[in-house]
Amino acid sequence: MTTTLVATEKRTEDCIDVLDHGFVRLDAAMADDLSVVNAARVSFGRRRDAMDERDEGLIRFLVRDRHGTPFEHNSFRFHVRAPIFVTREWMRHRMSSFNEFSLRYAKATDDFYVPEAEDVRTQVGKPGAYTFDQVDPDLAEQTREELRRVYESAYDAYARLVDQGVAREVARSVLPVGAYTEFYWTVNARSLMNFVSLRAAETAQREIRRYADAIEHFFARHMPVTHAAFVANGRVAP
Ligand SMILES: Cc1cc2nc3c(=O)[nH]c(=O)nc-3n(C[C@H](O)[C@H](O)[C@H](O)COP(=O)(O)OP(=O)(O)OC[C@H]3O[C@@H](n4cnc5c(N)ncnc54)[C@H](O)[C@@H]3O)c2cc1C
Repeated sequence: MTTTLVATEKRTEDCIDVLDHGFVRLDAAMADDLSVVNAARVSFGRRRDAMDERDEGLIRFLVRDRHGTPFEHNSFRFHVRAPIFVTREWMRHRMSSFNEFSLRYAKATDDFYVPEAEDVRTQVGKPGAYTFDQVDPDLAEQTREELRRVYESAYDAYARLVDQGVAREVARSVLPVGAYTEFYWTVNARSLMNFVSLRAAETAQREIRRYADAIEHFFARHMPVTHAAFVANGRVAP
């Protein structure tokens, strides 16, 4: 099996496994609640060295009244491994920066997303208001088998074409959107809250929700007061 950055860079304490071959790894963070307080208090020529209760109240006020800019003076850099279809949803979040693994310059891995049986679902209801029910065990297993079969055949074709001298940028066309990719994502807390608000919601696709939950975990760890205010405010980003 070919590996990419996964094997070398994965560190357990800052890494959460997601889906069957994915992860969210916090690569670096310059983020704390105090940065929010000081960005807001500069309006009055004030600066704090440590948080107190009034500062916590200030953060709650800023979130509630949607004064969003003080939440932009921080940065989280994540290294993510996710299926292409999840990544495609993720990259719609323009208020952040991305760099992605290149299938022009490097060979694709043979890791593809196969959902757990309980995640094979059927959609019920109207567009925009679907609910999802688990399918019966036979159909779940059949779905997983079909996926494995298609993935194997697609990867065989890809590897054969590359071996025969076809450029990777051409051969990659045979790869399905269940193939895993990797990217770096750098985002500030304001945009991160917008991402979590939309992508950890019940209306979001289950697979990206799992990634959004991991992102939220790291956000809560570095900015607990801001995170609590975000939750108390109905998970609406300021
Ligand atoms: C459940 C769900 C279903 C979706 N379905 C579809 C779909 O079917 N088709 C589809 O194309 N997309 C779909 N999307 C993607 C969605 O339309 C957004 O592109 C994505 O959620 C990013 O949100 P955003 O624009 O708020 O984030 P960002 O791009 O990070 O922007 C953050 C904020 O900056 C501001 N902003 C950014 N760019 C502009 C701009 N050009 N003009 C004005 N303000 C701006 C806005 O306030 C925005 O909320 C879906 C998203 C979700 C969560």
